[in-house]
Amino acid sequence: MSTQKPEPKHIAVIGGGPAGLMAAETIAAEGIAVSVFEKMPTLGRKFLMAGRGGLNLTHIEGQAPFMARYGEAEAWMAPRLAMFTPGRLREWCEDLGQRTFVGSSGRIFPTCMKASPLLRAWRARLDEQDVQIYLRHTWHGWDEAGSLCFTRDNGEELKIEADAVVLALGGASWPKLGADAAWVDAMETSGVEVKPFQPSNCGVNIAWSDVFKERFAGTPLKGIALGFGDKKVKGEAMITDYGLEGGALYSLSPALRASLAGSERTTLTIDLRPEQKQDVIAARLAKVRKGESLSNRLKKALKLSPAAISLLREGPGEMPHDAGELAALIKSVPVTIDSQRPLDRAISSAGGVALDAMDANQMLLARPGVFLAGEMLDWEAPTGGYLLQGCFSSGVGAANGVIEWISEDVSEEDH
Ligand SMILES: Cc1cc2nc3c(=O)[nH]c(=O)nc-3n(C[C@H](O)[C@H](O)[C@H](O)COP(=O)(O)OP(=O)(O)OC[C@H]3O[C@@H](n4cnc5c(N)ncnc54)[C@H](O)[C@@H]3O)c2cc1C
Repeated sequence: MSTQKPEPKHIAVIGGGPAGLMAAETIAAEGIAVSVFEKMPTLGRKFLMAGRGGLNLTHIEGQAPFMARYGEAEAWMAPRLAMFTPGRLREWCEDLGQRTFVGSSGRIFPTCMKASPLLRAWRARLDEQDVQIYLRHTWHGWDEAGSLCFTRDNGEELKIEADAVVLALGGASWPKLGADAAWVDAMETSGVEVKPFQPSNCGVNIAWSDVFKERFAGTPLKGIALGFGDKKVKGEAMITDYGLEGGALYSLSPALRASLAGSERTTLTIDLRPEQKQDVIAARLAKVRKGESLSNRLKKALKLSPAAISLLREGPGEMPHDAGELAALIKSVPVTIDSQRPLDRAISSAGGVALDAMDANQMLLARPGVFLAGEMLDWEAPTGGYLLQGCFSSGVGAANGVIEWISEDVSEEDH
């Protein structure tokens, strides 16, 4: 065995969002030197934006349904979620002085419903761990010798060597917050497959009539269920002048995207009274006094909102007068979707570095010593806290990969 002490290792984490910072914290907790490089003037801009909606950190759901939220990436995400569970995420948040609570439908939020106090406390912890943070450093790829190439805001070019690297560069939605996927070229030049980025958790474009959009843009449709294919999702949707937005719709993003890839338009159905059976609705409508206007019948018998009643008129042809036909329409109002909203307005993106471009420790097969985490990878999940949980857990996964990699390196140096 050599008597020489191994050189201290230095790890570069590129991308200062939740995935990168979690990787940095986990590596630094092992006493390993870490530097974080971030292109923006401040850390965690998308995380702060998520805080505007209350910062849904994770979900209380049981393990099996939780995992199923990751769809095709479930098997890949499962060991990461086991390394950093939703329960552990709550503890981590509370350790940083931010209490959490379980909100409606099992979503978990910090009590203050904001990201900024959590991010401040996190930054203080990283400072205590002596994590070095370099802002306004944009990474461009590797030079021929394998050094990391950066440009600073003042145009200065910089080359950095590291014993291992974590890339946590984010996906491609809301590029003005930092994650602009400009790194795709560097990855492809290295022979790494990147699946095209597409919008996920996004609204849809619908050609509403002028009357409908002028009157109802900004109005929610509450207590509805959206149907698409064999899926039915209860929740609410917001009418906008371009179409619809809302959590229930977002969870249908993968299915809608697949359908729109194969045809110009697709049709979603809206059940305006998901808690009532069609025959019960028909019986109620039939009871209303003859001579009553159709709108009054719908208001009195079913307490439908003005927006819901007008939605029934948006389809082609007359609204049916027959109680049975009207009940059938109320249970399944067809809405034609022209397209999904663009990537720069989507909450998250689908696509990214192919999961099989990495080994089980999240290390790039094409570039040993480079580990990846977060939304830049090809997985997607609905809103509900599954996105941040996936980013935190894969950040821990990449960090554990780095720790194992450099310890193997150290023991080789020892021999
Ligand atoms: C409006 C909105 C609301 C959301 N609400 C929620 C929510 O409530 N719950 C939830 O679970 N998720 C939510 N999300 C999604 C969640 O914020 C993201 O999934 C998460 O931030 C992704 O984390 P990340 O670390 O992978 O990437 P990011 O947070 O995007 O961080 C990547 C970082 O890398 C930096 N970077 C990129 N390229 C380079 C480069 N070349 N050099 C140096 N640095 C670079 C970027 O500037 C950025 O800071 C929301 C998203 C949006 C847009």
